Amino acid sequence: MKSLLLEKFRTAFGRAPEIVARAPGRIEFIGNHTDYNGGTVLGAAIDRGVWVALARRDDGRRRFASDQGGEVVAVAANQLDKLSGPHAWVNYPLGVLVALRDAGLALPSGFDYLAVSDLPTGAGLSSSAAIELASGLAFLAATGQTVPRETLVQLGRYAENKFVGVPCGILDQGVSGFGRKDHLVFIDCRGPRFDTVPLPAGAHIWIFNTHTKHALVDGLYAARHRECMAAARALGVALLADLSPAALAAAGKKLDPLEARRAKHIVEEIARVDATVVALRAGDLTAVGELLTASHRSSQHLFENSTAELDFLVDALVGVPAVYGARLTGGGFGGAVMALASGDFGPADADAVSGAYAGKFGARPDVLHAQTGDGAMRVAL
Ligand code: ADP
Ligand code: MG
Repeated sequence: MKSLLLEKFRTAFGRAPEIVARAPGRIEFIGNHTDYNGGTVLGAAIDRGVWVALARRDDGRRRFASDQGGEVVAVAANQLDKLSGPHAWVNYPLGVLVALRDAGLALPSGFDYLAVSDLPTGAGLSSSAAIELASGLAFLAATGQTVPRETLVQLGRYAENKFVGVPCGILDQGVSGFGRKDHLVFIDCRGPRFDTVPLPAGAHIWIFNTHTKHALVDGLYAARHRECMAAARALGVALLADLSPAALAAAGKKLDPLEARRAKHIVEEIARVDATVVALRAGDLTAVGELLTASHRSSQHLFENSTAELDFLVDALVGVPAVYGARLTGGGFGGAVMALASGDFGPADADAVSGAYAGKFGARPDVLHAQTGDGAMRVAL
């Protein structure tokens, strides 16, 4: 990737970059819709990501190029307004500049900027967080500033929430920032507080992206958010994370059946995240897999954010002996399924699952065998 980046930088700008930074994509390992309920979540940074190369200019102009085609976009130094149309991708680095400004940090004035990626975009792997964190590191390096990793994560999230306008939780940027090869990232969303947990050797992550998306997905997320907050209110707590499964069972009669299902999913899902950490530390992949599949069943029946496509993939995958467990990953209502498998699960197994899926739904999912990878960092030139 680095040689491709250098070559593309030279083609776009006729010179070499001074700074290179890279940040990975991520998957949600377990912890479905727990973030805005004040709960915990486990994610994995993967071995694919976005690379940003930068060279400063002294005329104050900011020029942006990307491997995703399109022309070089030139923006004046004092111009931090949102762009639209084919230039809209520049809102990610522009949003990071706005985040730096609003945090009272220095901004590089002029520069040439290039983003290249080996991460599929819009595939639920959070290329958006990756481009934000790689941009953030490059801009900080260009101005000789260093910040704690937590701050880099918050700058990326601010760019996405406040400038681009996507209300994502802390998972995307947190995992891209704190990822570590052969580890998962644990996030207590209320701090937020970040930690890493070793992923036992021999664990393989496979992702099956259906490219399906419910037409009303934004409204459905908003409805789940509302239902969770209503359940918390009815139970007299600020957030559902304040309840243990036992406390919920004792108080659950205060809820109508729909709120009771939502609350049970969230409270038990948080308990599953914590149990997953214990199982990981014990090196017990069988137990981890059972928790992953239980998470899916809870999404399917209690949170009701699965789909026939996702259920089909999970059912097919858990029938394969080399698969420890499988679940929908991300917000649901379409998107992707992840499987945790042993090294015995191979391309032929993935192909059989994809073929069965295509037989029923007419198109194959995209399959990615992802390795865990390190979080955002500068790359030596
Ligand atoms: P996801 O985060 O799941 O990949 P999003 O819709 O949140 O999907 O973010 C994808 C957007 O991020 C792209 O449409 C583009 O604007 C921006 N992006 C990601 N990678 C690149 C890249 N290499 N070059 C330019 N823009 C990128
Ligand atoms: Mg995104």
